[in-house]
Amino acid sequence: MKKTTSSEFSSAASRRDFLRHLSLGVGAGLLGVPALANALALAPESALGLASLEALQTGRKLGVALVGLGGYSSGQLAPALQKTQLCRLTGIVTGTPEKAQKWKQQYSIPDKNIYNYQNFDSIKDNPDIDIVYVVLPNSMHAEYVERAARAGKHVICEKPMATSVEDCRRMIDACKKAGKKLSIGYRLHFDPYHLEAMRIGQNQVYGPVKKLMSENGFTMGENRPWRIQKKLSGGGPLMDMGIYCVQGVIYTKGQLPVSVTAKYAQKTRPQQFNEVEEGLSWQFQFADGSTADCRTSYAESVSHLRMEAANGWLDLQPAFAYNGLHGQTSKGPLANVPTQDVSQQARQMDDFADCILNNKPTRVPGEMGMRDVQLLKGIYQAADSGQKVSTKDIVAVLDKVGAR
Ligand code: NAD
Repeated sequence: MKKTTSSEFSSAASRRDFLRHLSLGVGAGLLGVPALANALALAPESALGLASLEALQTGRKLGVALVGLGGYSSGQLAPALQKTQLCRLTGIVTGTPEKAQKWKQQYSIPDKNIYNYQNFDSIKDNPDIDIVYVVLPNSMHAEYVERAARAGKHVICEKPMATSVEDCRRMIDACKKAGKKLSIGYRLHFDPYHLEAMRIGQNQVYGPVKKLMSENGFTMGENRPWRIQKKLSGGGPLMDMGIYCVQGVIYTKGQLPVSVTAKYAQKTRPQQFNEVEEGLSWQFQFADGSTADCRTSYAESVSHLRMEAANGWLDLQPAFAYNGLHGQTSKGPLANVPTQDVSQQARQMDDFADCILNNKPTRVPGEMGMRDVQLLKGIYQAADSGQKVSTKDIVAVLDKVGAR
């Protein structure tokens, strides 16, 4: 059977037919009420594009290949891809033949859609795969994003985007050159609790935000070796967990910081953490004089985001987990959040598929990933030097992304 490509989804003729259906009032009927309700739940603040509604109606989904079948792919992304409406798991890239066999059976992946790191580039000839999702150790992101772009695929890259700003630039350029979209796996931009924090903070619902606080960490056992090898991770908990605090305070405030001060925590297990920090605290200063006090650790399980504004406060705790989030405000429990957990990852991937199908910009682009890597580097610079470090040049370079 002939494969339908995403460009065919958005062909003028099918758009006209679909519009005609809608104007005749049959569109919603064909789609079915549950599917339509799910469709509307995908993109809470923006309606789905027409091509996505068509895709939902016809059951056609964009194909996703996961690169790296470790904890996050197996525990979160593959299960989420069983719930997505606009995309589905069609391929895998792994260096471990036993994993390939297991995934092949579990997710009915045909042999022709299973790649290793050597033959990965031939994915370019595979029409079953529209999106490559890079879920490898941090320092490997750049190579596989570039190779995916060269293979003509849209790309999702896990956080942190890379271990250097230069790598981020190369990744953005490669996707631009290929005419493909690049997004970062910032799942919390699609979580109802965090969308509510953005709404209240950015719209100054409780007045101007005066103070922010965020911490994120977990107690590391000895089962995550690459995370404490600087060459692969780029750094310790700041790269892995602290990045959520950076994101959280920026999108709650709706502004980028102008400077940062930082301090490493004393190591409790210096032998284990001989290449990277075990913990770090930092303060961002904003142009209006407000501040964000943040902390990250591999020695303590914490997950917290708090905003204090002129006329009220908002508090998320746990804030950064995959589920079981809890939110409170000075006016009572957090509004606009569902009673049941949603799949952050399913929403994130469906939103990206919607962006591809309708040629819309993603709200978590590569430029945002690069902005955050620049800020992480600024935090390390402040901790290394003991000096306040200006982050103003990041604002100047990246005003396109700003403080979403
Ligand atoms: P993991 O250690 O569980 O898996 C890493 C995978 O990479 C494994 O399949 C491993 O075989 C493969 N790999 C290939 N080459 C490797 C090498 N040289 N050394 C080590 N592993 C190699 O890690 P993970 O937790 O799945 O994290 C992968 C990426 O996903 C990281 O960038 C991480 O920051 C990100 N992540 C994001 C979230 C999120 O919530 N967005 C959650 C967890 C992880």
